[in-house]
Amino acid sequence: MANNGKGQNIRYGPDMKVLIIGAGVAGLTLAGLLERRGFTPRVVERAPAFGKVGYVIVIWPSGSRVLKGLGAYEKLLEEGCQFTNYYISNYKGEVIKTYTIDPVAEKYGPIISIYRPELIDTLIDAVNPEFINMNMTVDKIDQGPDTAEVHFSDGSTEQYDLVIGCDGVRSKTREQIFGHIPLTYSGMSGWGFWIDPDLSKPDGIVEYWGKGKFIGVWPTKGRLSVFTSVKMEEKTVDPVDTRIDRIKECFKEFGGVVPDMLDQLNDPNEIYYDTYNDMQIDSWSKGRVVLVGDSAHAILPNAGAGVSMAMESAAVIAEELCRADSKYVEHALKQYESRRRPRVKKVQNQSRMMGKLVYSNSSILSTARDYFLKVYSNDLVYKYWDSMLKDPI
Ligand SMILES: Cc1cc2nc3c(=O)[nH]c(=O)nc-3n(C[C@H](O)[C@H](O)[C@H](O)COP(=O)(O)OP(=O)(O)OC[C@H]3O[C@@H](n4cnc5c(N)ncnc54)[C@H](O)[C@@H]3O)c2cc1C
Repeated sequence: MANNGKGQNIRYGPDMKVLIIGAGVAGLTLAGLLERRGFTPRVVERAPAFGKVGYVIVIWPSGSRVLKGLGAYEKLLEEGCQFTNYYISNYKGEVIKTYTIDPVAEKYGPIISIYRPELIDTLIDAVNPEFINMNMTVDKIDQGPDTAEVHFSDGSTEQYDLVIGCDGVRSKTREQIFGHIPLTYSGMSGWGFWIDPDLSKPDGIVEYWGKGKFIGVWPTKGRLSVFTSVKMEEKTVDPVDTRIDRIKECFKEFGGVVPDMLDQLNDPNEIYYDTYNDMQIDSWSKGRVVLVGDSAHAILPNAGAGVSMAMESAAVIAEELCRADSKYVEHALKQYESRRRPRVKKVQNQSRMMGKLVYSNSSILSTARDYFLKVYSNDLVYKYWDSMLKDPI
C-alpha cells in the first residue's frame, strides 16, 4: 500500500483486495488469471462442494485461448473431445445437412466438447485452493467511496477494493446492486439427460430439428448428452414423477435414434429441466461492484457460447485490473465493459436469431427452413463461424 501524498492509501495492481462471488466458469477462470498476475483474490461459492452434475459444454476456440493463458489447455484437450462433424436432421431422422468443422479448426483451433464437471475440475486445478471458500455466500454489500464492505453468510465482515459477481444467470450480486432485472424468456424450455454413447455418431453433433422442438445429441469423452428444447409457456411446471412420460409424448413423432434414446429413460431424477433465458442490463458495474459471465450477459444455450463468453470476459477484466489501482478501479471497470459489450451483444443477437430459426413453430416456416438448409452452402457456414471468431476480445 502507498500513500499518494494527500492522505489517501492506494493499493496498486495485485495488492488490490478482490472478492469473487461464485466459483463457476467465470469465477474460477478469473481467479486463476488474477493469480497468475500476482493477485490473491478470495472466491466464495454457495455450494458446499463441486458436484458431478452437468451437461456437455461446447467451447469455442476463443474460450480455449483463454485456457491456454491459464495453463489449462493441455488438460482441456485430455478431458474433452474435438468433434469434426455436424449433422442436422429433420424430425424424422433424415439427415438434411452435414458439414465438417475442419476449416474452422484449421484457422482458429478446435471446437471442444467437455463434460461440465470436468471443465470445472480443469479450472480448479489452475487456482490456489486456499483462495476458494465453499459453502459461503454474501448477505450484503455496503459501498463506500473507497471500499466495499462485504457481510458474509458466516457473520464475518471484510473491506474490499473490488467485488466481482460471477454468480450466474440468477445472480444475487446483481439483485443486491441493481435491484430486480428480469430475465428474458426465449419461449423455449427443455430437458437434458445422458444416454448410451453407442447410440449416436461419435465424431460429431447430431441435431434433430422439428416444428417448435429440437433435440441435440452432443458427444464428449465416453459420454453422450442429449439436450432438448421445446416451445413452452414460461410458467410450465415439470413435476418429476411424470417427467419421462411428458418427454416421450413430446418427441413421439421423432425418428432416427430418438425412439431408442427415449426408451433408455428410467430415472426422472437424473433428467434436468430448465427454462432458457438471456438477460440484458444497462451497466455491468456500479461503484466497486462488477458483474462477469452470465450475471452480466446470460446468453441462450442454443449458440453454445455462454462458457466461451464468460471466459473471454474474465480474460478482459483480468487484463484491465492489472493496469488499475484501488483509487481508479471504477475506470478499469468501464474499460472492461466497453471492450466487451459489442461482442457480447453480437453473440446474444446471434443466439436469439438461431433460436428463431431452429425452433420455428410453423409448418410452413419449418419446411422452408429445412429446404433452405439443404441448399445452404458450406461456405456460408464457415462465414458464420468466421464472424463469431474473428473479433478481438
Ligand atoms: C442446458 C444448458 C446447456 C448449455 N450448453 C452450453 C454449451 O454447450 N456451451 C456454452 O458455452 N455454454 C453452454 N451453456 C451456458 C453456460 O453453462 C453458461 O453460460 C456458463 O456456465 C456461465 O458461466 P458463469 O460462471 O457465469 O455461471 P455458472 O457457471 O452458472 O457459475 C455460477 C457459480 O456461482 C455460484 N453461485 C450462485 N449464486 C451464488 C451466491 N449467491 N453466492 C455464491 N456463489 C453463488 C454457483 O453455484 C456457480 O458455481 C449451457 C447452459 C444450459 C442451461
